[in-house]
Amino acid sequence: MNCQPSAIPPAETVDIPALRERYRQERTIRINKAGQEQYVRPVDDFAEVYEGDPHMPVLPRDSLSEDIDVAVLGGGWAGILAGYHLRKMGVSNFRNIDHAGDFGGVWYWNRYPGLSCDNDAYCYLPLLEEMGFFPSKKFTDGFEIREYAQSIAKKFELYESALFHTMVTSMRWDESIKRWHITTDRGDDICARFVIMANGLLNIPKLPGIPGIHGFKGKMFHSARWEYDYTGGDQKNPVLDKLADKRVAIIGTGATSVQAVPFIGQYAKQLYVLQRTASTVDQRKNTATDTDWAKSLPAGWQRERQKNFHHAAMETLSPGEPDLICDIWTEINRNLSAVFDASGWPQSAEEYMTKREVMDYQVMERLRGRVESIVTDKDAADILKPWYRYLCKRPASNDEFYPTFNRPNVKVIDVSKTKGVERMTEKGFVAGGIEYEIDCMIFASGFEVTSDLDRRWGFDKFEGRDGLSIYKHWAEDIRTFHGMMTRGFPNQFFTGFIQGGMNASTTETFSNQTRHMSYIIAEALKRGVHTVEPSLEAVNAYVGHIRATAIDFSAFQRECTPSYFNNESTEIETGKGETKMRSYLGETYGPGYYVFEKLLEDWRAKGDLEGLELES
Ligand code: NDP
Repeated sequence: MNCQPSAIPPAETVDIPALRERYRQERTIRINKAGQEQYVRPVDDFAEVYEGDPHMPVLPRDSLSEDIDVAVLGGGWAGILAGYHLRKMGVSNFRNIDHAGDFGGVWYWNRYPGLSCDNDAYCYLPLLEEMGFFPSKKFTDGFEIREYAQSIAKKFELYESALFHTMVTSMRWDESIKRWHITTDRGDDICARFVIMANGLLNIPKLPGIPGIHGFKGKMFHSARWEYDYTGGDQKNPVLDKLADKRVAIIGTGATSVQAVPFIGQYAKQLYVLQRTASTVDQRKNTATDTDWAKSLPAGWQRERQKNFHHAAMETLSPGEPDLICDIWTEINRNLSAVFDASGWPQSAEEYMTKREVMDYQVMERLRGRVESIVTDKDAADILKPWYRYLCKRPASNDEFYPTFNRPNVKVIDVSKTKGVERMTEKGFVAGGIEYEIDCMIFASGFEVTSDLDRRWGFDKFEGRDGLSIYKHWAEDIRTFHGMMTRGFPNQFFTGFIQGGMNASTTETFSNQTRHMSYIIAEALKRGVHTVEPSLEAVNAYVGHIRATAIDFSAFQRECTPSYFNNESTEIETGKGETKMRSYLGETYGPGYYVFEKLLEDWRAKGDLEGLELES
């Protein structure tokens, strides 16, 4: 089906200077000087976030003392894809180690009602062609994703060696045996020649540091540890009937809350949605997979679709390139293509950016209009309108979110002026000076994403050569080779958004990275090499290259309301007397994801592991 541009208000009706000023005012209200320090680690009443597992009992087991080739820290997408690529490269002596009770990562932990993927599943789910699998719909449900992830782990025999319900507590390079010593909360002492950090981007839940949070006597839990025993229902059948006599509050209106709120609103006696910054919530248009279409796709279709998604969501569509994805992620570029087809394609990046900015305001006006057309109470509709540029926050799509606010038992409360909920008491919470009594508080307050690394990774001791802590090593300046290795930390590989190419499908980024590191590990094992470590020259050259070609989004991010996307609007020092924003995407490769992919392919094709110091 041909994807059409969306119906947006004409550019001449959008008062951009007025909107710019409104965005600035909203940002000013929201800026919290405490930055990441406004959040607290889940401890005391919330210690189960680290220690427990609401989904599976944690069974006792003997501690391990062993020597393996590769430890893969994580069993989410990055860990599964690392296992897949290691097997493909002929490396078999490895283990996935994960705090969860099974494979799946975020899709293991998160089971809240309404959990579903906001991205095109035909792009997001990796290895569809190899697995011969098709998701049941465009935006597929959380349990289908978890089951699919686990089916990959099964097919590629990752279960045999996986170590679940095991939290890494320290990691130290031991030069005398040229191995990493890994200790865990189960008393294990694992020696690994190589380590792949596949520890995810959204794995450590965070809590707002609301005064009095520990004094509340009712029920509290984080959305990533949903307690169906308390609410009733289960992930596949989220009938939250035990909430029928409960007054519930939920903190946050991010992607999680947007999905969960319609279910809580449907079942709870009373629901308070405590909002600081509104999300952009579009129509979902979730369609079941057309099996004839699926069967008709030629070999290699998934890669082509991912490329198209990446162009449409993160870069630009070329003249004549269709938008195969056709959702909120691709709306701006799809609309721009139509404008350019009619009035001429831009001749420069500046011209493109100017036109894109206008389109951004038009699309955001459309989204604000959508709130007004659905939410009948004017005050509620005003609170729910987003006032920032597209992609300042993660765009969501949901057909039930706004209608939920038309229910008599659901109330949205704006807590932006007090930078969040003022206080919690024994009986409930305080907002706007009023105490609201509740039975249950749900924290849909997100995860450690742009905070300091030790908070994100959850363990303090991570030491390379000569006891050098990674947290100190990268405190001032992150310096890597290809975004995956760093000097002083031999045989250690990092996944995620650090310093390299980033695809609109996160799983594709992980696949590219783990393919590359699996190749290096396989080569080292084949060549009888004990350590691989990037040379200082290679690191300097790579960092120099990525910075020379980088696109700095600081200007854009400074204009956004604070969130994990921009490190809560906190600037970081560049070391040159300047500051810049820390993006959740890290330092992305300016020339583009597919250029970066080619850079890695060419590097591997040369076969000489150029830039790595090899010690036999
Ligand atoms: P987010 O970090 O996106 O949202 C946290 C929410 O909590 C925000 O609305 C935030 O407000 C609010 N908040 C934090 N502290 C306070 C406070 N003191 N008082 C009031 N409100 C507060 O977390 P989510 O769990 O929603 O999503 C995290 C990420 O997980 C997403 O961005 C996405 O990447 C991923 N995700 C993906 C899904 C998918 O479809 N694939 C579905 C769900 C999540 P404010 O914005 O003002 O800071």
